Amino acid sequence: MPGPADTPSLEAFARSGLAALDAGALRRRLVETARGPAAGATRAGRALVSFSCNDYLGLANDPRVIAAGQAALARYGAGAGASRLVTGNHPPLAALEARLAAHKGTAAALVFGSGYLANLGIVPALAGAGDLVLVDALGHSCLFSGAQLSGATMLRFRHNDLDHLRTILAARRGRHERVLILTERVFSMDGDRAPLSEILSLAAEYDAWTLVDDAHGLGVVEPQARAPLEMGTLSKTLGSYGGYLCASRAVVDLLTSRARSFVYTTGLPPASVAAALAALEIVEAEPDRAARPLALARRFTARLGLPEAQSPIVPIHVGEAPAALALSASLEARGFLVVAIRPPTVPAGTARLRVAFSAAHGEAQVDGLADAILALRGAGT
Ligand SMILES: *Cc1c(COP(=O)(O)O)cnc(C)c1O
Repeated sequence: MPGPADTPSLEAFARSGLAALDAGALRRRLVETARGPAAGATRAGRALVSFSCNDYLGLANDPRVIAAGQAALARYGAGAGASRLVTGNHPPLAALEARLAAHKGTAAALVFGSGYLANLGIVPALAGAGDLVLVDALGHSCLFSGAQLSGATMLRFRHNDLDHLRTILAARRGRHERVLILTERVFSMDGDRAPLSEILSLAAEYDAWTLVDDAHGLGVVEPQARAPLEMGTLSKTLGSYGGYLCASRAVVDLLTSRARSFVYTTGLPPASVAAALAALEIVEAEPDRAARPLALARRFTARLGLPEAQSPIVPIHVGEAPAALALSASLEARGFLVVAIRPPTVPAGTARLRVAFSAAHGEAQVDGLADAILALRGAGT
């Protein structure tokens, strides 16, 4: 069979897009990375200590998690075989949903294909034309995508700014039937936390519904409060893959019928689900492990003279993308993998290194990274 026909306008479009990315040092490239053991990662044959994984408790490579995945793979096969509403609702899913709901103290939980898919399904199922969705300005891409897909009016409120949120609610609440507030427990690129109790009080005052994205909080920070809509991912602390919503029975039942990214997609593979369940059991059974990433992050911020870490994520602000890439490359030469984060993942002019701590790191590795950054900064690199 011949290959696809030439499509010159498509090729020209792709090439000019790449040229624009290159001009701003914003082109992304895939680098083959073999993770493990512990916090190690191998790139191009070089063993590095990774500070760029979201596997905060080192559970992706935990033998108990791997064994649970293997057993489910052997028992139920590689894939779910259909969407969950057809025949893809295999037994590990119900077990995981029950455990997630118990963990969050909600009546029910619903597992989605990923965290991204969860937000693409949840927001449009709860809000639509005529409604208002308010998103923290530093919210994750999938919160904005979910809001856009809903067809509701979408407004950003300034990051963690309760006064701004109140101003918008006071001015706009009367014009919309339903109002949804979207925020994160721990912000993925800054590591700071939302003032959730205060947001929930505002939401109650204005009859708005709050969704908190707990992607980076589950199992590693003590929650200040619980929102009526707690979504998250199985792919970070739980070391596997998939997304979830914990909420009331009625909300979960409604989404089971209405969330398009739930209804029209195949159920997760049994092995991923069983692995996430085993990881959640470890999170609950081993509080010392769960406390370790934040303690290491605080050790690091103290050594660097930065504000005390609020989560296992610590940003090292650099500014422009080329400088962030250069600092990342210098650290990699010293054996540390700390990936540069550039726009549009973060706002223009705020390129940074995002340092993520894991229970799998040793104190000496953390101190080694801090000292390398101090030395490079001193050298003006
Ligand atoms: C990673 C992340 C997601 C997406 O989760 P996936 O399961 O990886 O799709 C959603 N929200 C936030 C805040 C995240 O950091």
